[in-house]
Amino acid sequence: MPSFITQGIVLRHADYREHDRMLTLLSPTMGRVEALCRGCKRPQSPLLSASEWFALGEYVLFAGKGRMTVSSCHVTETFYPLRTDYDRLKYATYLLSITEAAAQPGEKAVELFTLLARSLSRLAYTGKDPQAVSAAFLLHFSNISGYRPRLSHCVRCGKAIPDEQIRLMDIENGGLLCSSCSEGISAAQPVTLPQVQWMRDVLQNGIDKTTLPESNAPGALLADYVETRIEKKIRHQGLWKT
Ligand SMILES: [Zn+2]
Repeated sequence: MPSFITQGIVLRHADYREHDRMLTLLSPTMGRVEALCRGCKRPQSPLLSASEWFALGEYVLFAGKGRMTVSSCHVTETFYPLRTDYDRLKYATYLLSITEAAAQPGEKAVELFTLLARSLSRLAYTGKDPQAVSAAFLLHFSNISGYRPRLSHCVRCGKAIPDEQIRLMDIENGGLLCSSCSEGISAAQPVTLPQVQWMRDVLQNGIDKTTLPESNAPGALLADYVETRIEKKIRHQGLWKT
């Protein structure tokens, strides 16, 4: 029976029988993968750390009897500090939920895998504001998913919008609205110029390079934007400060 070696990040696990867990992994080459991790809940199991949330490693998967089984794993990163900081943990869990909802079985996810790994690393190991890190994740996520928001021209009529007229973003159509197109659009949400400038800069230069204030990151807006696109509403109590 065939076996596969793939990088993976644990997006979710569910208890299965007494000692096993069913893992949902993100693989750069195989997309979303469900794999049974046998015996991982036994004390001293070599697969215990490979079956925890956020674990990143090289998984050896075995395909048989209609399902994948984890036969071994070399864990390279656990993002352990996420477990000791509830606030960061909440955001990290949210990123896993978005990834799980968007990744498809059998579809390559190389960019998403890299984005998720880097974002988890920033949440775990840097002092960056977790809301800004998560907003940057959502922004890059929309870019690699093919719906980068339009941030200088009207998404309806295509007209360039002067900075001083920036006021609304059309969530469903994916970009700013000019003043004449703003009438009666129910999915339009308020956005400020500093928020738009932050999004432009992070899209262009990345969150590590931007010098704009983290408080300009429009987390709630981007969450609404991405969740509308992937058609999945994710509960996020108290995640986004307004
Ligand atoms: Zn317009």
